[in-house]
Amino acid sequence: MNNKFSKRIREFKPSGTHQLLQMSERPEVISFAGGFPAPELFPVEELKEVCEAVLKEQGPASLQYSTTEGYTPLRLAICERMKDIGIESSYENVMITSGSQQAIDLTGKLFIDEGDVIICESPTYLAAINAFKVYNPRFVEVDMDEDGMIMEELEKKLQAHPGVKFIYTIPDFQNPTGRTMKLERRQRMVQLANQYDVVILEDNPYGAIRFAGEPLPPLKHFDTEGRVIYLSTFSKIFSPGLRLGWICADEAFMARYVSLKESSDLHTDSFAQRVAAKYIEMYDLETHIEKIRAIYKERYSAMVSCIKEYLPPSVSYSTPQGGLFIWLELPESIDSADLLQDCLRNHVAFVSGASFFPNGGGHNTLRLNFSNMSNENIAEGIRRLADVLRSKL
Ligand code: PMP
Repeated sequence: MNNKFSKRIREFKPSGTHQLLQMSERPEVISFAGGFPAPELFPVEELKEVCEAVLKEQGPASLQYSTTEGYTPLRLAICERMKDIGIESSYENVMITSGSQQAIDLTGKLFIDEGDVIICESPTYLAAINAFKVYNPRFVEVDMDEDGMIMEELEKKLQAHPGVKFIYTIPDFQNPTGRTMKLERRQRMVQLANQYDVVILEDNPYGAIRFAGEPLPPLKHFDTEGRVIYLSTFSKIFSPGLRLGWICADEAFMARYVSLKESSDLHTDSFAQRVAAKYIEMYDLETHIEKIRAIYKERYSAMVSCIKEYLPPSVSYSTPQGGLFIWLELPESIDSADLLQDCLRNHVAFVSGASFFPNGGGHNTLRLNFSNMSNENIAEGIRRLADVLRSKL
């Protein structure tokens, strides 16, 4: 049957992380592997009321087919939120997607022909790598430091690869490293994109989850030529299960995105869109996000204290001011994929870092999630990780 599959899929090599993630979800395992929000913060009681109001006021419409662009009141509410972070937009520049993951996939479909060069941070978000891989690009990685992608390196890569299709970046509390791009680099990246005529895909699911430091404007704020495509989502600030994300982009892109989405799923769940819009009307989403920030701040601090206390000093770690992840660099002699096998036997899990490097490397790195775990489990999990690690040093 294999010869029936498209060349694209025959050549696609899955990353293998899916299986490992499944193992890490076993109840006896303390898993730092996923990127799940804290479920106890989901506004379940409020949503009972909201769903009832939606069904009462807009019952048939909420269950009917709808437009591909999305539910206008939700698009307007998104424009209001974006205005607060320095993005001026009309609802016509916003399309609701089924999570920002769909927006990433549609972007691959929109831009990538086989062999095209796309630039990304090294490392970068695993599921974006997989989504783009289907379209067979060449990934050119740009090194990062604690302040995000290094602009001198980016310029070298832009010079070396004329015709780059887009730069994929996660400027705030990056997945997997937790790092944030500093202000000057944001401005510089937009300048370079203008100079080299490249599109920027700004993926920003975590910007609102800042629990320390001052907020920074998104790259889209500095966009004067309509070349920054901004993606965000309700997943980390409200509920990932509702699958509500969005694309904010110039008209030149919007019509194409709409055509692609139309053939993908016609439109995002009408009921979910109306529920989110109604929630925003009836409650203060910002107050809800405040609660998320407070809990994640506490969990982050708990994890960092445990890392300091239990892990050997030869392990370095990122110190994000928000988001869901901490990135570890282990001594060169340790392969985190092997370490993970031993850790799973000791009932603790993480994602080994190599999966986040599209061209390989990063064998001695790993990602830890702190959002979906009690402080006690964080302490116990890091102790288990430390025990296994010490046995290998
Ligand atoms: N981009 C990044 C960087 C992410 O970390 C995630 C979720 N883990 C997504 C996009 C997708 O989020 P969703 O589809 O739930 O909106």
